[in-house]
Amino acid sequence: MASAPLFIRGAEATEPGSAAVTGHPLDHSRYPRTVIARRLLILGSTGSIGTQALDILDRSPDLELVGLSAESRWEVLVEQARAHRVRRIALTDQDAAARAAEVWTDGEVLAGPEGLVRLVVESGADLVLNALVGSAGLGPTVATLGEGIDLALANKESLVVGGELVVALAEATGAQILPVDSEHSALYQLIAAERVGTVDRLVLTASGGPFRGRTRDQLEDVTVEEALAHPTWHMGGKITIDSATLMNKGLELIEAHHLFGVPYPRIDVVVHPQSIVHGLIQLCDGASLAHLGYPDMHVPISYALHHPERVDVPVPALDLAAVGALTFEAVDEHAFPCLRLAREAATAGGTAPCVLNAANEVAVHAFLRDELGFLGIPAVIEATLDRLGVEPVRAFESLYEADRAARRTAGELVLAQAR
Ligand code: NAD
Ligand code: MG
Repeated sequence: MASAPLFIRGAEATEPGSAAVTGHPLDHSRYPRTVIARRLLILGSTGSIGTQALDILDRSPDLELVGLSAESRWEVLVEQARAHRVRRIALTDQDAAARAAEVWTDGEVLAGPEGLVRLVVESGADLVLNALVGSAGLGPTVATLGEGIDLALANKESLVVGGELVVALAEATGAQILPVDSEHSALYQLIAAERVGTVDRLVLTASGGPFRGRTRDQLEDVTVEEALAHPTWHMGGKITIDSATLMNKGLELIEAHHLFGVPYPRIDVVVHPQSIVHGLIQLCDGASLAHLGYPDMHVPISYALHHPERVDVPVPALDLAAVGALTFEAVDEHAFPCLRLAREAATAGGTAPCVLNAANEVAVHAFLRDELGFLGIPAVIEATLDRLGVEPVRAFESLYEADRAARRTAGELVLAQAR
């Protein structure tokens, strides 16, 4: 689908002094008064990204919510459905769906992974925000793009697992993928302003997580609580652990490759503890352009939901004097091997990134349950990749098979490694 249309019915509907009249980007009366709302479906609305998206929705007359989903927290989902007058919700947990259907009779409750896909294909949405966590997000991503619906994608695992097929599907149906991940939103905006063939390299910044600066030995006994204490971002549990191991940056490397079609050797990662610079592009003439802002996911979520418009987001303007210093350092790949593992799996291609992702999900959840040490996470991933090798990906079914096999193998390895 081409870029979403501007929601102005006609020039006469635009307020005097708006962008259509003055055309100046500093003119803040540009927000169109008469709008045709774009129909938005939010998947994973009870999570960190999902709830922040609902904050944005409350201030967005150009968006009409048509559905919500969660895994099992049905009370919160029903409350959200009531507050936003939504008529259809989906819960992937069957019991949770049954409980919700008992108490909420204002609309329909869909159940299971099939119910989630039905919610997507029957929603009539113009835009789906996929804010699920893990490879469970792949099915809804495929359903959305298969229907030709634009996708605001927070669920980076969809691209890690099925990048080639997902991008090919979007190209076939004309649906757009708008990144929600802050680094990718930054890169998307930077790249959009350049001519084809002028961008040499992409640079992803990483906060370094709570254990930046520690040696491998000092990571041996870190606790779940310490790993969950991220210095700059407040996020869901799984991505917070991914940030502590730096696997998050490995997943983002693969995400960037698929979103922007840039070969892996031309994507760099640099540690930037302040999380102010979100992404950087290096151009053919020696110039580098960066995207800056305080770490607040409302900004990239709002960008994806309103694209190609920009709307006001109530965040403080960046005060560089108050920030003081922006520092950068190389990744310590000895202490944090996950980035190397991701790069190797990405380069191997085929089912390797899918196996990497599934093994990571199993290992992270085992760590969160205190069944695996922190350094056990990369160990389980590496051993799973070694055991399963690389298979070609011919269809989505090869990915679902590889995902299942990797979960089985990683589960066995977790048991073997258990402290
Ligand atoms: P979260 O754990 O806070 O929320 C996940 C949501 O998905 C919840 O609504 C949950 O009910 C639902 N869910 C979980 N497992 C599911 C399953 N198997 N089937 C169906 N629904 C399921 O996660 P989050 O931090 O909001 O992250 C969501 C995605 O966005 C992840 O892919 C993450 O990497 C990405 N992301 C998050 C942030 C952030 O700041 N939180 C930043 C960048 C990218
Ligand atoms: Mg990110």
